[in-house]
Amino acid sequence: MSTQNNNDFVPTSAMVIVAHPDDIEFGCAGTVTKWTKRGAKVVYVLVTSGNGGTHDAQYTRETIATLREQEQTAAAAICGVTEIEFLHYQDGEVMPTLELRKDLVRMMRKHKPEVVIAMDPTLVFVQNRYINHPDHRAVATCTIDACFPIVSMPLMYPELGEAHKVREVWMNFTKDPADAYVDISETLDQKMEALRQHKSQVDDETVKMVRTWALEEGRGIVPTESFKIMFIEQRKQ
Ligand SMILES: [Zn+2]
Repeated sequence: MSTQNNNDFVPTSAMVIVAHPDDIEFGCAGTVTKWTKRGAKVVYVLVTSGNGGTHDAQYTRETIATLREQEQTAAAAICGVTEIEFLHYQDGEVMPTLELRKDLVRMMRKHKPEVVIAMDPTLVFVQNRYINHPDHRAVATCTIDACFPIVSMPLMYPELGEAHKVREVWMNFTKDPADAYVDISETLDQKMEALRQHKSQVDDETVKMVRTWALEEGRGIVPTESFKIMFIEQRKQ
């Protein structure tokens, strides 16, 4: 499968599953916007509402969660996404449990995405400077386990609805060589604007840094987002 095919690929529907508000905007919002512009229906699933994500004493867990859900909703709208499912797990306490896996099976059977975007659960260390957040790893593990095989097995959780086959899992924040370098030239501005909506989390410096990442990933030629892809079902050419 050439990267060119993956760059041009647009699914009919996709689900992005992440731990925190702003994970999508740091990661794959440029690709999401490219897909929605071409008619894909994309749903976001937020496992937590980031209710531990502040150093500011004026907030409680409840008020920061409400604010961050509003920020996420505004960011999604810029990327052409109007449907968000908030699962309200506790920020910083997500574990790869059967309960979470089941909740994600419920989401997939409800929305029936052709493609699921997740983080790479095997990413733990980035050089000597970053340990991947435990919530990210837990959500990613449950996501891939739900995608294959659980969601497609009719005898597993029949009460959650009809078995559904996710065709591809796209993982960003991966250390493996990527299968897709998606050119996001046309949506980079929207990605930055979406990131800016997370006012409780990001400042101008951070937005600049994420723009630089996108350019570095595209080797300074075009801004890109990269993904490792698992093809559960071979793509029809
Ligand atoms: Zn995060």
